[in-house]
Amino acid sequence: MNSANGHSTVLPKTADIVILGAGVMGASIAFHLAKRKVGRIVVIDKDHVARGGSGRSSALVRMHYSFAPEVEMALISLRMFQNWQEVVGQPGDFRKTGFVRIVHPNETARLKLNVEMQRQLGANVDLIDRHQLQELEPDWNVDEVELAAYEADSGYGDGAGVAGDFLGAAREMGVGYFSRTQATAFGVEAGSVRTVVTDQGTISAPIVISAMGPWTRPLFQQIGCDLPIECEYHQVAILRNAPEMKGGGCACIDSVTATYFRSDAHDKFLVGDFYGKRPVDPDNFPQRASDDSLEEIIERACRRVPKLEGAEVMRGVTGVYDMTPDSRPLLGQIPEIRGLYVCAGFSGMGFKISPAIGLVMSELVLEGKSRSVDITAFRPSRFAENQPIKAEYEYVDD
Ligand SMILES: Cc1cc2nc3c(=O)[nH]c(=O)nc-3n(C[C@H](O)[C@H](O)[C@H](O)COP(=O)(O)OP(=O)(O)OC[C@H]3O[C@@H](n4cnc5c(N)ncnc54)[C@H](O)[C@@H]3O)c2cc1C
Repeated sequence: MNSANGHSTVLPKTADIVILGAGVMGASIAFHLAKRKVGRIVVIDKDHVARGGSGRSSALVRMHYSFAPEVEMALISLRMFQNWQEVVGQPGDFRKTGFVRIVHPNETARLKLNVEMQRQLGANVDLIDRHQLQELEPDWNVDEVELAAYEADSGYGDGAGVAGDFLGAAREMGVGYFSRTQATAFGVEAGSVRTVVTDQGTISAPIVISAMGPWTRPLFQQIGCDLPIECEYHQVAILRNAPEMKGGGCACIDSVTATYFRSDAHDKFLVGDFYGKRPVDPDNFPQRASDDSLEEIIERACRRVPKLEGAEVMRGVTGVYDMTPDSRPLLGQIPEIRGLYVCAGFSGMGFKISPAIGLVMSELVLEGKSRSVDITAFRPSRFAENQPIKAEYEYVDD
């Protein structure tokens, strides 16, 4: 059966590749695989595109990571965000605002070393002192800042837009998309994945890529594979600028106040928290942020941006992070099961690298190894091997 726009509405019985989840990751993977014309690709989502963390994302885009492969993926992604029209044929929502990273005063030496590493990889990042930062952001209180990292090209995007654009472009290239189709089990035989059982029927495929974010763990537990992903609840405040605020300005991740913030359009401001609450059920978490929590987050951000004191809280956004023990994603084939791949555990930081993730996952699946960025360190077996990722100059709150 076909819908009005010619897309089938009945889940096929077979495919070459099945992708579970239509967030930014599943959609990006589908797009990159479709570009390489690798046969029949099907994406299913238990809800619909960007209904998970992707549609709730604060969507900051920055190059500042302490682990080089993450910087490389952020750089590849930035180039795609900047050239969105060429990449997916849509205008895109990326806004270049500039980005500032403020670390704890006792981590300034690490900041310098990380910036050096980022520059070597091609990031447009500078170290700026207190006076330069004050000039850049006159409304910020920068009294204790000795040095900060400044990225002129970074900013923020939109998770629903990115997932929708990738999926739309993938469908134009022939990818089948089935919303309201929930994977309920994997069929595994002789060490290889054979099928995905869904509430709309069973689909056979030799390659299955799971990009289900916070919902990943239970499905893998059924086949005896316990991926260490825990769900963590987060709240974000959206404020209307106080009349004396000029609007716009740099996005910032600030270890001193343990907040991140950015402008939102020209007259709003978004503030998020470093820390969340565990455990939480991704199918049953508060959809409304609590006034007390938002108040507390905003109070901390006010230490950096005192004019926020007079800003009106418009609304709260709530969401779930899929946390791993080293706060880095699990990317790769499940060791005991040929053809079954996981791409999840982005620990609240996935949006900004999602364009590159589609690229590296497509290379891994088709060629056995990612050429664009070496992602071996992210292999799902690293915790069992006692080899979690630890960057050389990691921050205490990385
Ligand atoms: C409040 C918040 C703020 C954030 N801020 C930032 C930020 O500033 N910068 C940044 O880089 N990142 C940020 N992130 C993180 C980023 O948004 C996520 O890492 C990214 O969106 C994850 O995308 P995903 O595709 O892996 O997962 P999701 O978007 O969660 O998608 C998973 C999809 O899988 C589907 N699914 C689940 N189970 C099944 C099943 N059994 N069968 C079929 N489909 C299924 C779901 O319906 C969902 O659509 C933030 C996240 C949140 C929640």
